[in-house]
Amino acid sequence: MGYPFQLPELGYATDALEPHIDSRTMEIHHGKHHQAYTNNLNAALEHHPELHGHSGEQLLGRLGELPEGIRAAVRNNGGGFVNHKLFWEIMAPGGSNSPTEEMSDLLSDSFGSFDEFKKSFSGAAATQFGSGWGWLVVDPDGKLQVMATANQDSPISCNCVPILGVDVWEHAYYLNYQNRRPDYLDAFWNVVNWSEVAEKYSQTR
Ligand code: MN
Repeated sequence: MGYPFQLPELGYATDALEPHIDSRTMEIHHGKHHQAYTNNLNAALEHHPELHGHSGEQLLGRLGELPEGIRAAVRNNGGGFVNHKLFWEIMAPGGSNSPTEEMSDLLSDSFGSFDEFKKSFSGAAATQFGSGWGWLVVDPDGKLQVMATANQDSPISCNCVPILGVDVWEHAYYLNYQNRRPDYLDAFWNVVNWSEVAEKYSQTR
């Protein structure tokens, strides 16, 4: 999927993640914020037909090769486009409180236990200063790592493949949680779509 990029469907109703993520937040987050990243990415690429066959992920994987005049715009808006697409995919109504057996074993091998993984992931997301994301990624060696990125920077730009991410920009939680980012992060675990995380992991193998 390349230029012109289209706002991906949510795949569920805006109120489907309540009470953990409220309907109004989802409406604005998907319909306004994600739409704006999509529009701005398209605007940045408009006069660069040589890049129109590239997916968002491909663009983020080769930021250094892009024309300097659009590099920052693609980093920010391409990141915003791709990061939110993943975010909607790795959540599901009702979610599930435990990962698939395969993911559970992988997380235990990598972090000691599922609870230790959650602590590490939530800690990275909670302490990301200002706006950004918390991630579970597959690194270039095929290992699972927790990381955080600022703004809309994508792990793809450092050769990692994100398989789970949480948006910690205030627009993701402020209406319902105000300044209580840790409460939002606690609630997030209730809506994680672990089968989709497992699917994204399997695509890296
Ligand atoms: Mn966001």
